[in-house]
Amino acid sequence: GIVDAGGVSFPLYYALYALQHRGQESAGISTFEGTTLYTHKAQGLVAEVFNSHTLQDLRGNAGIGHVRYPTTGSKVPENVQPFNFRYQGLDLSIAHNGNLVNTIELREEYERRGQIFCTTTDTEIIGSIIADALRTSKSMEDAVRLCMRRLRGSYAAVALLNETVYAFRDPLGIKPLCIGKIDGGYIVASESVAIDALDGTFIRDVRPGELVRIDETGLSSIQIATANRTAYCIFEYIYFARADSVIDGTLVYDVRRRIGQKLHDAAPVEADTVCPVPDSGIAYAAGYAERSGIPFVEGLMKNRYMGRTFIMPTQQQRERAVRIKLNTVRGNLKDKRVVLVDDSIVRGTTSRRIVNMIRDAGAEEIHLRVGSPPIIAPCYLGVDMPTRTELIASGREVEAVRASIGATSLTYIPLEDLVEAIGCGDRNLCTGCLTGCYPVDINGEKSCHCVVDYVAGTHQSDLSAFRAGKERT
Ligand code: AMP
Repeated sequence: GIVDAGGVSFPLYYALYALQHRGQESAGISTFEGTTLYTHKAQGLVAEVFNSHTLQDLRGNAGIGHVRYPTTGSKVPENVQPFNFRYQGLDLSIAHNGNLVNTIELREEYERRGQIFCTTTDTEIIGSIIADALRTSKSMEDAVRLCMRRLRGSYAAVALLNETVYAFRDPLGIKPLCIGKIDGGYIVASESVAIDALDGTFIRDVRPGELVRIDETGLSSIQIATANRTAYCIFEYIYFARADSVIDGTLVYDVRRRIGQKLHDAAPVEADTVCPVPDSGIAYAAGYAERSGIPFVEGLMKNRYMGRTFIMPTQQQRERAVRIKLNTVRGNLKDKRVVLVDDSIVRGTTSRRIVNMIRDAGAEEIHLRVGSPPIIAPCYLGVDMPTRTELIASGREVEAVRASIGATSLTYIPLEDLVEAIGCGDRNLCTGCLTGCYPVDINGEKSCHCVVDYVAGTHQSDLSAFRAGKERT
């Protein structure tokens, strides 16, 4: 979400470009000027969806944008965000990162009350609840408060109500959201790299349970909910976020490098080279090489013009995609004992292929080191993880995974080391995919109960504190 006195469509476009890694399925922008809400959205990458004409048509000094990575709702054009709602002269547009776990109950309830839904997404429910609440609430703040009480799951959301941008984050802060100052106003975005792209200044993260409001007069916020802990998504640090982002106070690159160092300590091995799986394994491999003294040498080259392999809809397509995406640097691998470093193993498809490729290139030994513990359970809170049966580590010992992948040895980072590398304690992280215990109640799953209170928050103007840089993390 951006408010910028010089117009928002181009800044939103650049910010979305910086966040392209968070979703490649579709992109969209909504802006508001005068009495008109403008929206342009379509399936495809940011560069495919927008051009200078479409951006010029998106008029106004306030707007929101989104790139989609589907978790709830299929890959069809009607599920492309932002979603617009029009009610009694108000125009509301909304975009959301995360995943609700009570979508079905909420949808049934609102359908019984006569609401009609046009999409199969959880985001439309958020918009519908807010639009419905605006009928009786005095303000958007009250409507969001009412909405947040009903939602269970993860949400980092932005909403555009006429020319005001709102941003709110679930009470456990599962998905990231941060605030920056730019030349003509303010920006809220999932990752700080979007602020960097606009040459802005990072101010702070949106607090879990907080609602931020930005308009032409500046920025203010209210705390809508408080919780006895946070549940930052551990997978953002492992894989999802860009390494140059600072999330909840921590530079992601540093976390990954520390994990690489700890991976060496956990399982030292005699080898000739440390080779990353590009790009996700690079920071980890840098840390491993640094700590072990074994040289960092690239044995794999990535074709930069391909998307992530998970985007392919079928297993067969995914397998073929890995081969096009990566090639070996044979001279760096032949007759070498290689420490191969990657961020995570999910289905095992990628690792198995890569190990085969490296062996075909003549490597003598391949010691696979993984920057996450075994992924044993699905994610219900915003990461597209397969079911337990497709997860290679679910119900299998490490030795069985090693044999299936064909590596000489395999070591995962222990959970305690990963948590220590992140630095905020396991009580403040969602480790659902690694432990099977989730911070919110999910049917049929274990929950590590969190207590959330909805407070009658007062409106505070944070602007002076921001100006003084007091809140900078
Ligand atoms: P695989 O083991 O074949 O399922 O692929 C795992 C690799 O895909 C990891 O090394 C990551 O780089 C990447 N990856 C992991 N989780 C995801 C995800 N949820 N969406 C897209 N890519 C992922």
